[in-house]
Amino acid sequence: MFRRYIVTHQTNYTNALPFSRSASSPHKMSSTAVPEEEVVVHSGGCHCRRLRWRVEAPASVAAWVCNCSDCSMRGNAHFVVPADKFQLEAGAEESLTTYTFGTHTAKHTFCKVCGITSFYTPRSHPDGVAVTVACVDPNTLRHVEYRKADGKNWEEWFHSQEKAAAAT
Ligand SMILES: [Zn+2]
Repeated sequence: MFRRYIVTHQTNYTNALPFSRSASSPHKMSSTAVPEEEVVVHSGGCHCRRLRWRVEAPASVAAWVCNCSDCSMRGNAHFVVPADKFQLEAGAEESLTTYTFGTHTAKHTFCKVCGITSFYTPRSHPDGVAVTVACVDPNTLRHVEYRKADGKNWEEWFHSQEKAAAAT
């Protein structure tokens, strides 16, 4: 099911990530000739490895550094994928627990043994999965472009992002 493949044109998948692209962000730091659209399978998980997962995502991703009360404590940087691109490995659910706060929209899932949030369901994309950059195994992420998410002022930030996405 998880195979390496190349997306040769814009698909619904990339369009489903409203914040990942904009006309003003073609600044690729990578010096390789690999097209930005290359999609690979990344693997990763928590510290104690009870939670392991695979995610289909571009080799180059835009990651959000969020300043909300939860993310700032964790130093969280994450990229978002549609939920159907993310797969937990068998048996992982046993080690999974969930924390919510505020609007309770975001589901802050974490490992109940080691405490690491390797992925969660973000408020901005309740039908998506936020993958913690630092929990992705080495060597498959070619480039990470870090962007600031103003989660502290979430409503204003989210709607400004929607407007920017609609304008591109
Ligand atoms: Zn763990």
